[in-house]
Amino acid sequence: MNRVTDKAPNDPNVRSTVTMLIFVNTAQVVTCAGPPRARRGREMSNLETIPNGAVVVTGERIEAVGKEADLRGRYSTATEIDCGGYVLAPGLVDSHTHAVFGRARYDEQEMRAAGMDYMAIAARGGGIHSSVRDLRTRGEDDLVALTRPRLLRLASYGITTVEVKSGYGLTLGDELKTLRVIARLSSELPLRIVPTFLGAHEIPLEQRGSAASREEYVSSLVNEMIPRVAAEKLARFADVFCEMGVYTVPQSRRILEAARAHGLLLKLHADELTSCGGAELAAELGATSADHLGAVSDAGVRALANSSTVATLLPGTMLFLGKSTRAPARQLIDAGVAVALATDFNPGTSPTPNLPLILTLGVSQLHLSAGEALIASTVNGAAALGLADSIGQLTPGFSADLALFEMGDLRELPYWYGDRRCLGTWVRGKTCHPSHLRVT
Ligand SMILES: [Zn+2]
Repeated sequence: MNRVTDKAPNDPNVRSTVTMLIFVNTAQVVTCAGPPRARRGREMSNLETIPNGAVVVTGERIEAVGKEADLRGRYSTATEIDCGGYVLAPGLVDSHTHAVFGRARYDEQEMRAAGMDYMAIAARGGGIHSSVRDLRTRGEDDLVALTRPRLLRLASYGITTVEVKSGYGLTLGDELKTLRVIARLSSELPLRIVPTFLGAHEIPLEQRGSAASREEYVSSLVNEMIPRVAAEKLARFADVFCEMGVYTVPQSRRILEAARAHGLLLKLHADELTSCGGAELAAELGATSADHLGAVSDAGVRALANSSTVATLLPGTMLFLGKSTRAPARQLIDAGVAVALATDFNPGTSPTPNLPLILTLGVSQLHLSAGEALIASTVNGAAALGLADSIGQLTPGFSADLALFEMGDLRELPYWYGDRRCLGTWVRGKTCHPSHLRVT
């Protein structure tokens, strides 16, 4: 049943219909409720779980969360959604993807298996530059058509918010094209999409030759691309790949300071393969997140602990590349750093849309508890996007972003590894991932 409310109380002729839903018949509602900010240290283990809980949604927002026995009577006119005796949780937040690209790069996986290293693959025309060459040949419509099913696949695993980066264009025109693809899909799909400008993903091949031409590209990012991206409001974040042989710490600082001056929030690919001061730079600049951190130094861990920067870990990348190094997740959490988990969905190093599988790696390889892994992919994923005050937890007033999982206990989410247990998701109170749930 729908509740009719006045949208403009001064004008009785302007009325809108607001749908009220009540999610009932759950094994448990996991709320992740708590302060509207990143969780650190022991806070990361605090999942609030309500056995036989219910959630009431009015329009786009959560109205009430509690025991079904208490809420049913109070909201007897709401439309019931039968959760089938399963687990209702906040929709998952994937805060790091590179979903806009052209062709897949499965051939490189075989080359790696045969013992070829990154440089040898690049010499054969592989690696990130092959994705750049490919994306530059494609039009916007083509890229929209390629990216749409990928985002729907991500959503089908329980994701309700996804960050998507540009970064395979590396020219003003190709980066704007990529960001417009993200903007089109953001307005078309019910999924919440957060766009990031990553013109500093690599230095384009044609400008790698000399220090002077590399600096020229940095100048074009600072003076041309960032102002244009900000003016067209095509990105919420700017990001830089700060790594040996890519962008140095001084170059990264220059790019990010320009982005900040143009009103963009900051992210940084930091200390992925070598410890070069990326985490320290992210903390110093007040970046919203520092991502990867496979080789973060002790000084980097301390810098993050003393900052509000979220450490986003991407263990799928290391697994897929067959590397044994891992980000020091326990050291980070024990030092008081807020840790998030994300897929790093991209064609070269992590082509998986399965965020629950990343939670499995979080538990089995990074030694997080199941509860910490869930906070890392809900509340802290939201914090890594600067959205912890509106998504990531089931709390009255928050956006009605929910995911229903076919299990009796949320700890099964990282346990059934590789499986897809998501039965349905809702974003802003509307069905996102199709579900076949009985509505009464
Ligand atoms: Zn990345």
